[in-house]
Amino acid sequence: MYNFSHEIPEDPRGNSLPLMRCPTNKPITGIVTSDDLIGTNTHYYRGRTIPCDTESCPACSEGFPWRWHSYVSLYSPSSHRTVLFEMTARAAEPLKVYRDAYGTLRGCRLTAKRSNSSPNSQVNIQTQRADLQEIALPAEPNLLEALSIIWNIELPSISVAGIEKQMPRASVRRNQLLRKSTMQKSTTASQSQSPNGDGSSDVDK
Ligand SMILES: [Zn+2]
Repeated sequence: MYNFSHEIPEDPRGNSLPLMRCPTNKPITGIVTSDDLIGTNTHYYRGRTIPCDTESCPACSEGFPWRWHSYVSLYSPSSHRTVLFEMTARAAEPLKVYRDAYGTLRGCRLTAKRSNSSPNSQVNIQTQRADLQEIALPAEPNLLEALSIIWNIELPSISVAGIEKQMPRASVRRNQLLRKSTMQKSTTASQSQSPNGDGSSDVDK
C-alpha cells in the first residue's frame, strides 16, 4: 500500500535533523537532548563532508586529510526545533568536562560562539546546567540515524564502536555492494555540505 497526501509534511525525511554548525554572525544557544555526543573522522570530499569509512575509504585512498567531528542534538525551547550540532574536537572539550561532572549531556545549556567573523574561526562553547522547571525536553533522538540520513549511508553500516579519547566513536563500515549504489545516488544528492557551514539553520538567539 502506498500513501500519498496533498499536505506537505513537516519532516519529509523520516527521523532527520537539520545539520548545523556554529554560525559566524551570532552565537547560538540550545539545550542538549542527547545523553552524550558522538564523533567520527570525516573528510571533505567531492564537495561534501563524508565520514571516514574505517575499512576501505575512498577519501583516505586518495590521500584526503581527515578531521574528527562530533555531534549532539540541540533543542531550542523558543522555536521547539532540534538540530544536529556539529563541533570539532577542540570545540567539544567543554562538553566532555560537563559530562564528566554531571554524568550526561542531556539538559546542558550550550552556547557556541566564533572568535571572529571568519567562517573557519575558532568556536568557543560554554556550558551550564539548564533550568528545566518550565521546559519539557523532547526525547533523545537517534544520532546515528540522523547522521545516516545526512550522509546518505545505510544505518546498519554505522555503529558506536567503543570509546576513543573518552568520546563515543561512530564507526562506518560500508557494504561494498551498497556503497556502489549509494555513491551513485550521492552524486546527485542535493544536500552538499560545505565545511564552512551552510545547510545550516538557526537554533536560537
Ligand atoms: Zn577515510
